[in-house]
Amino acid sequence: MTRPIIEMKNVVKSFGLFKALHGVDLQVKEGEIVVVIGPSGSGKSTLIRCINQLEEHNGGEIIVDGAEVGHGRKSTVLTEVGMVFQSFNLFPHMTVLRNVALGPVRVRGLSWAAAEDRAKRLLARVGLADQAMKYPAQLSGGQQQRVGIARALAMEPKVLLFDEPTSALDPEMVGEVLDVMQQLAKTGVTMVVVTHEMGFARKVADRVVFMDGGRIVEQGPPDEIFNAPSDLRLRSFLQAVL
Ligand code: ADP
Ligand code: MG
Repeated sequence: MTRPIIEMKNVVKSFGLFKALHGVDLQVKEGEIVVVIGPSGSGKSTLIRCINQLEEHNGGEIIVDGAEVGHGRKSTVLTEVGMVFQSFNLFPHMTVLRNVALGPVRVRGLSWAAAEDRAKRLLARVGLADQAMKYPAQLSGGQQQRVGIARALAMEPKVLLFDEPTSALDPEMVGEVLDVMQQLAKTGVTMVVVTHEMGFARKVADRVVFMDGGRIVEQGPPDEIFNAPSDLRLRSFLQAVL
């Protein structure tokens, strides 16, 4: 039995009086690929933002790689968690190479030379070896998002979180990003992916988690979720998106 690398127990997140997470329990095992689906506003982003403490939860426990996070703790374990955003979030004034090398220099104490070596390898891995000296604005959306993935990988994270990584892309660029993610999924890194790409969920997920109204309503292997959904809300969600 592999141990859970992420453990959420009864996690509550409120924004003022509004509860975005109503006591969520979720365990993610090392190497597992979990895809989170659900309607807009169901708490998917809040869930993964709580894992890396971009949002601080108000109740319950979140344990990442054995260390509790949140409630004022500044846990170094969070440097083990990488995030890929819908809107790429690259630094516009830095080359692609510097964007990828920056984290390891700042957080891991690598020299620029060592970090740029690593960045070059990762850019090659996402098919962008020849784009290293360009600035983000000179790349297509799909290329920028692949830089975003290389940047997350540069920190050698144990867990990678993706929040709708293809939602801001033109349709013809979605495939190239999903391909990179599918390759990554084979490398043993743990991934939690929020996406509306049901084909990706079906093909790549070990487990699909369906959220509605700040709760996990149903979860299971993709086969079960897509072919034999039991919850009514899941059924109508799937009818709307498939
Ligand atoms: P999803 O990612 O599933 O679309 P979110 O996690 O972004 O949903 O949001 C869940 C709910 O929490 C929504 O109703 C949203 O309006 C609310 N919410 C999210 N972030 C904030 C915030 N910073 N302040 C107030 N409400 C928020
Ligand atoms: Mg969201």
